[in-house]
Amino acid sequence: MSFYSLLSDLTFLVIPAMLLLLNRSKRSGGEPLPQLIQEGDYVLLFLDHRRTYLVKIEGGKSFHTHKGFIKFDDLIGKDYGSTVLSSLGVEFIALKPLLRDYIMKSVRRTQITYPKDVALIVMFSGIGPGSRVVEAGTGTGALTTALAHYVKPEGRVYSYEIREEFLKTAEKNLKRAGLIDFVELKNKDITAGIDESGVDGVILDLATPWLVAPHACTALKPSGTIVSFSPTIDQVVKTVEALMESGFVDVETFECLMRGMQVERGKTRPQTLMTGHTGYITLARKALKA
Ligand code: SAH
Repeated sequence: MSFYSLLSDLTFLVIPAMLLLLNRSKRSGGEPLPQLIQEGDYVLLFLDHRRTYLVKIEGGKSFHTHKGFIKFDDLIGKDYGSTVLSSLGVEFIALKPLLRDYIMKSVRRTQITYPKDVALIVMFSGIGPGSRVVEAGTGTGALTTALAHYVKPEGRVYSYEIREEFLKTAEKNLKRAGLIDFVELKNKDITAGIDESGVDGVILDLATPWLVAPHACTALKPSGTIVSFSPTIDQVVKTVEALMESGFVDVETFECLMRGMQVERGKTRPQTLMTGHTGYITLARKALKA
């Protein structure tokens, strides 16, 4: 066998293996499209806006719905966005799951942070690739999933949770989204203190955020940000007071209301029903005072 034919044989083997590895490490969305659907990938099977299914593609298996079953072998090797017919001839579209799909399809143990709030929390916190972020409580891990997505690949999320059983579910959700490698789950009470120091952000969604304010100030880099999400005004007032006493400045609180639209020529108008309340977002930055 000549050197060149060996090289071309190796290329034949190595390039698909590299593509497979690249694909594995990029599950949480945000990577360039298109890619082919491969065994082990997660796919969002879309029937209509209300009926979507997040499924793991496994060769030889199928997914059963009230509209018939879909054979995964029909999807392997196809482009994301392809149409597949169920056994009853109903069309499903195989979409590439977005971060919001992983969040909304989390196996839930607690109330989760909704994408509208996640988006603002991430923006206000200023975190990005490489950031080190402390979070509490982990809960279902929906917000953790988003934070991990934005700090990867070099950054880390240190996520505190007092209920061990919740951490198990959060771990499963993070694994499914391909993001567990960027998170350290900690079965600890954050009001007792934060182990990490020099962190870029502290993100809170727990019942008593005001008890965390002094610890957050110690753990953060100067000018680092804290963002706290709370469902009630009572929590917000206590938190704002504690933040100001702990050396934070630029303290602000927001509520984000998101109203869907039904769009149809001649009948376009806001949807009748919307999520009336989730919570308030309070943010602040650590100052070094003289
Ligand atoms: N943001 C999460 C949901 C958090 S629910 C998500 O998107 O999935 C609030 C969580 O805070 C609960 O799981 C609760 O057990 C946890 N918690 C409450 N007090 C805590 C504390 N002192 N330290 C760590 N976790 C705490």
